[in-house]
Amino acid sequence: MPASDRPVLILGGTAEAVKLAAALVALGYRTISSLAGRTSNPGRIDGDVRTGGFGGADGLAAYIRREGIALLVDATHPFATQISDNARAAADATGVPFVRLERPDWQRKPGDAWTSVTSLEEAVCAIPAKARILLALGRQHIAPFSRRSDVYFVVRMIDPPETPLDLHDFELELSKPGKKDEEAAFLTRKRLTHIVCRNSGGAASYAKIAAARELGLPVIMIERPHRPTGHTLPDTSGVLRFIEETLG
Ligand code: NAP
Repeated sequence: MPASDRPVLILGGTAEAVKLAAALVALGYRTISSLAGRTSNPGRIDGDVRTGGFGGADGLAAYIRREGIALLVDATHPFATQISDNARAAADATGVPFVRLERPDWQRKPGDAWTSVTSLEEAVCAIPAKARILLALGRQHIAPFSRRSDVYFVVRMIDPPETPLDLHDFELELSKPGKKDEEAAFLTRKRLTHIVCRNSGGAASYAKIAAARELGLPVIMIERPHRPTGHTLPDTSGVLRFIEETLG
């Protein structure tokens, strides 16, 4: 089968991956988007979709061989380190063309009051006593903050947590991030003194950072894990060009 008739495997779970699948399908490519299965309602994704782990790098390599994958795109979230390491290892093992799609991280701008940290544990320690914190993190990242009984947390999530949150003093806010003015109003209404978040990059959750700058609110920013990079491109259009050049 010519390479262009074989599927492109997109490791997804991000808005960029959804956009890439739509663009490839529109150009006539076969795509398989792979999801870990963490989100109950991932929304519409063009092309084929599969869900669940592969069983490590070896399992992913076996899947690539079995499905005759023409090209592998790692479009997973910047903090999803295990699947990215597996993707690179499986690409090396199978020789399938590989590209990483990773949105650029947010850069500090004049007026930003960021404390950059490299882990959740450092973020826990960086919070001053008696702070009122917007904790903009997924449910699996909350537990380390249970040590801080001297701090009030507003935990914002899209889906409710499956198990109760193990925090001393907190409230749960079930909502999506809003626009900058809505974020500023929210931060003010809740009398928040700091934000703790990860440097995810992208536009969708940047409004709170811009609102914090406007209000002079400090942000404890968990920076991305540093790992060896393979062939990495910052946007969907660059990845599309790479795929067209590679598969013709
Ligand atoms: P992770 O720690 O890097 O991966 C853990 C395991 O989950 C992997 O070893 C793999 O299992 C499976 N897995 C992860 N992504 C997969 C995918 N796209 N397709 C199939 N299996 C996948 O990942 P994570 O941080 O839990 O993130 C899971 C997914 O959520 C990713 O797809 C990511 O793009 C998305 N996401 C993550 C974050 C975040 O903050 N980490 C935020 C938004 C979206 P096997 O070893 O069995 O193959």
